[in-house]
Amino acid sequence: MQSCTLIAPAKINLYLEIIGDRSDGYHELAMILQSIDLADQIHIQKSSIDSIRVRCNDPQVPIDKSNLAYKAAALMNAKYPEAFIKHGGLNISIKKRIPVSAGLAGGSTDAAAVLLGINLLWELGLSKSELEELGARLGSDIPFCIAGGTAIATGRGEQLAPLPSLDNIHIVLAKYRSLEVSTPWAYKTYRQQFRSTYIQDRESLAARAEAVHSSNMVKGILHKDTKEIVQQLHNDLEKVVLPEFPIVLELRETLTNAGVLGAMMSGSGPSVFAICESKQQAEEVKSHVRKKIPDQELELFVAQSIAHGIQLAP
Ligand code: ATP
Repeated sequence: MQSCTLIAPAKINLYLEIIGDRSDGYHELAMILQSIDLADQIHIQKSSIDSIRVRCNDPQVPIDKSNLAYKAAALMNAKYPEAFIKHGGLNISIKKRIPVSAGLAGGSTDAAAVLLGINLLWELGLSKSELEELGARLGSDIPFCIAGGTAIATGRGEQLAPLPSLDNIHIVLAKYRSLEVSTPWAYKTYRQQFRSTYIQDRESLAARAEAVHSSNMVKGILHKDTKEIVQQLHNDLEKVVLPEFPIVLELRETLTNAGVLGAMMSGSGPSVFAICESKQQAEEVKSHVRKKIPDQELELFVAQSIAHGIQLAP
């Protein structure tokens, strides 16, 4: 195999709770993550030049060593140097559809696709869980991007417990193109403001993370009860991002007032998603919001929950 093309889906957070600090500087989290069909396309081709090269159609995305897709290839190179020598370098081309710095794990899913793609091209035969373990070294969201579907994520987000898939959730996703929120900034600010609420002792932290497994959100997912899921939407990071970026709060309100079931910021934002009753309602809400906010900077997408992570392109 000389090349392969992969579809790399975005994720939204249906639930994000910050429960405490970790000794490695990250936060202990309890999240429920959902893959959606808004996806990047990653083409990986073996190259005669023995280096890694990244190209991307979106000028907002760096194409140097800071690109997460590059980092994923460099990690595979470091881990399997014989395979790199045998197969040569890699040209990675990213067709970006997922908004950048949006809280949708856009970079993480590209990295996840590169790990899967190189596993195929170099015939390494690594299992999904081995790839997830490698991915966790690069970023907390990468294991979920590989696994996909619907899952509880605890620890710093890398410990996954799969849930039955939700394949019938229709959403409208909105983001101002040049408005970026840095994930490290959001967590740092949250720590500054809410540290006194953190659970301190290890046992209580573990119990809190465990409690998510029997939460009403999980019950809603198990029963495929969209109304219950909407009632349980929660994102602690809204507490720091919305006051700092009132335009995101306005966007969330515009979506809520459009008659959707519920709306919330995804991850560290600033993207906002609104859950709708049907694809048709999602299309109507998208048109309605476009009229209310005629700003061309505002990107709007209709998307749907999906039951998988990275896949080979058909
Ligand atoms: P997360 O939800 O995992 O926190 P995000 O969706 O908020 O991520 P990304 O789109 O992954 O954010 O971008 C975060 C930063 O990573 C940006 O500053 C961007 O320049 C950089 N970056 C590196 N590689 C990529 C990539 N392949 N795609 C998008 N951004 C990338």
